[in-house]
Order: sequence, then structure tokens, then C-alpha cells
Amino acid sequence: MNNPDLGIPTREPAKTGLDDTILPFEVRTLDLRGRIVRLGPAVDAILSSHDYPLPVAKLLGEAIVLTVMLGSSLKFEGRFILQTQSDGPVRMLVVNFTSPGKVRACARFDAERIAAAIAANEDAPGQLLGRGHLAMTIDQGPDMSRYQGLVPLEGHDLERAAHEYFSRSEQIPTRVRLAVAEEFRGGENGARRRWRAGGILLQFLPKSPERARQGDLDPGDAPPGTESYVPPEDDAWVEGRSLVETVDDIELIDPALSSERLAYRLFHDPGVRVFRAAPVHAQCSCSRQSVEAMLQSFPREDRDDMVKDGKITVTCEFCSSTYVFAPSEITAEGSALS
Ligand SMILES: [Zn+2]
Repeated sequence: MNNPDLGIPTREPAKTGLDDTILPFEVRTLDLRGRIVRLGPAVDAILSSHDYPLPVAKLLGEAIVLTVMLGSSLKFEGRFILQTQSDGPVRMLVVNFTSPGKVRACARFDAERIAAAIAANEDAPGQLLGRGHLAMTIDQGPDMSRYQGLVPLEGHDLERAAHEYFSRSEQIPTRVRLAVAEEFRGGENGARRRWRAGGILLQFLPKSPERARQGDLDPGDAPPGTESYVPPEDDAWVEGRSLVETVDDIELIDPALSSERLAYRLFHDPGVRVFRAAPVHAQCSCSRQSVEAMLQSFPREDRDDMVKDGKITVTCEFCSSTYVFAPSEITAEGSALS
């Protein structure tokens, strides 16, 4: 019998988990590929640098995991940008992933509506987002065209949005699980909250594309009562997605469960092969120079409006770094090149 894995060394899954890593894997017998992301200090650094209400921080954490999983799977040098724009209490989420492993993120929200949503127990991710769209942009530098994929948000969470995007735009059966939680640790200065997050992405990539055909998620313009044709799902995909759908949040964030052990726990029967894990860390790309260039590109009157107590103060929305300038430092008008 022809064993496709012949010659591939096998070993036990690593016991200790490594935070801030992306572990790619494949289940060749089922034509499945995926990745497991586990974030500790990286997601904690981002979420702790903002004072977001709890459900906003959790939602942004989910967006960070999703962005890291998608951005790290693209074979390119550059930036992958995930951005939502919607009419819910959270107006906008922005996450940037810069290859090979830098991430930064921020959220814009309406504080009063968030407080009302929390009070009414209507703060689930889909309720916070509301209706609008999710855009995914690939930016490979000034000389390259930007590619943008769009998916509507209709009161659903980011997992559902990702499924719809891959189903409609890429025709790749995909399942995503995202989890974010706070870990409480006692310390000398009392308990300290630390953010942890994790996720798993699974995709069905058979050699013959007709095996990946899926039913229409939306009846579209068909007259009411029309039965939509739903092609039967491939058995291999049903097996794969059923396994991923059983993953609990705790399995994605538990520091005692390594990504390798999770991959093994899910796919030891069909057999799973893991690849080298890649690191990811929180790092912003702002600098005093780039902020100065931005200020120089503003019209004079706009800059004058920014002066308070004889200074211009700019706070980076991503990392909360603060840059202070004397108005005399910014003199050129519209001539900055960045
Ligand atoms: Zn910054």
C-alpha cells in the first residue's frame, strides 16, 4: 500500500506550549490544512495598552487572532489589514499584521452605547458589531496594487464572517474558532489580569475542486419557497469541520495544552503533520518621524487648531504612545515625504 507519509519522521507532540506562536499543520489523508495560533504576551500588550471596556477588548482580541491566522498564511512580504466598519456600538476594529510576525490593533466605539449594551446583556460580539462590512486588505508596498476582499456583517460574529468570506469569495470550505479570556494571577501587588487568546483555522483543499463545493449560504434572489440546491458535503470535510467544532475555548487558551498536543488530540486518528511554528509579537510601526511627517502634511490652520498649552500632542491610536511637538518644530507645509 502506498503510504503518502512514508519517510516523514514521527514524534510525540510537545508537552509545553509556546505563547505567541503560529503552528501550521496538515492532515493529508483528509486534504485538510490549518493553523493554530496561541497568544499570551502579544495580545496582553495590545489590549493592556488600551482602556477598552471588557467586551470591546474581547472582541478586538478575537479580531487579532483571526488577523494573525489569515495574515500569516499569505505568502508575501507586506501588510495584511483586517478592518470592520459597522453600525453597532463598536464602529470600527483595525488590526494590522506585518510579515513575518508583527501585529497591532485598535478599536473605535461609542462608550455610551457600549455601557447600555452591557447593562442590557446585549454585548455578544455580533451585537457589538451590528451591520456593516469586514474588509481584508493586502498591502505589499507603494508600487503594488492593493487587494481587498469584503464580506458583509449582518449581526454575526467574526467566526461567521470568516466562514462566509472563504465560502463566497474563495470557495474554500473553512472553519475558524476564536477564543479570548483574561487570566488572573496573584502577585506581590495583588491580582493582575493578563489577556490570553487562541484560535484554530481549518481549510479543505482537495486536489479536485468539485469536492470542495458547498451549498448556497444565502437563497439570494430566488423566489420565496424555492428549495436551494445544497450539494452534499465531502465526507473528509465533514469529519474535519466536526472535529474543529468540538474545540472548547479553554483548549485554545490553556497554557498547559500545547498547540501540538491540541493538533494531536483532534487529528491523531487520520494522522497530523505539523510544521515549524512561527513567532508573533506586538509591535507598532509608529515613530516620532512618521508622526512629524503626518503633521507637516496637514494644512497650517489644522495644525494651529491642534496646539494646546503651546504644544501639539499626538497619541498613537494603536499603541497609545504619545508624541509631543513644539509648533515651531513643524514648519514645512505639505512637503513631507514619508
Ligand atoms: Zn503606535
